[in-house]
Amino acid sequence: MGDARSQKSLNRFLAQGLSPGASIWLDEGEAHHLIHVLRLKEGARVILIDGGGHEYLGEVQRIKRKEAKILVLKLLRKEPPLEQEITLLLPLLKKENTSMLVEKAVELGLKRVVLLLTERTVVHGEQRLREKLKKRALQALKQCRRLWALEIEGPISLQSLREEAELKILAYEGEEERSLKEVLEGFSGKSLALLSGPEGGFANSEVEFLRNKGFIPVSLGPYILRAETAAFYLMSVARYTIL
Ligand code: SAH
Repeated sequence: MGDARSQKSLNRFLAQGLSPGASIWLDEGEAHHLIHVLRLKEGARVILIDGGGHEYLGEVQRIKRKEAKILVLKLLRKEPPLEQEITLLLPLLKKENTSMLVEKAVELGLKRVVLLLTERTVVHGEQRLREKLKKRALQALKQCRRLWALEIEGPISLQSLREEAELKILAYEGEEERSLKEVLEGFSGKSLALLSGPEGGFANSEVEFLRNKGFIPVSLGPYILRAETAAFYLMSVARYTIL
């Protein structure tokens, strides 16, 4: 089962300490998936990823109740670090939208998502939310065959945001002049931060705060987009323009 095509269909598991010849025990969640969901047996071939740009071929060496040990066979692929670092600054949104956008951030090759609490975000069960988002991001990482894990930070308050990106874009429907297009067109830097608001938008004081932090307000066109549309649009256009 050597060729790349057949390896594409192998199941992928996240694990650390990967090097050829090493045997590694999967963590509880990954072991559960292998044993009880995929029902793989000893001897099955799998793909191991470390979230740090490496992909290995592995073989299930031992299954014991809730534990699974994998023998690392060989390095299959390395992915260079992401050239441009795009960050999505994302106020917590309602229903499934936050986790949907985390999934899109993985697929679109973003480096990190920082979850924000703003004046009009509706917060619910932050800790559980973090776990849910990490799980959704891992599923997306495996599905899209990306090898660098998305960094997920926060939730933090808008006031405590420390964003160092060279270009910081604020999607603001009150902006009449400047468009996303003109701001992105001239950009050839390495780091870009994208921020759009929650369903209720930003308070005026928040817009001022962000301007003072160097965020450039841009219009996304004449229509008022839903919060999830604006964030998804920002990510898509940024990826198209700079990646
Ligand atoms: N103030 C809006 C509600 C916020 S829309 C209303 O009147 O209903 C959610 C977020 O999407 C906004 O905070 C903004 O960041 C972004 N957004 C939506 N439409 C936009 C546009 N045409 N230009 C720039 N940003 C927009």
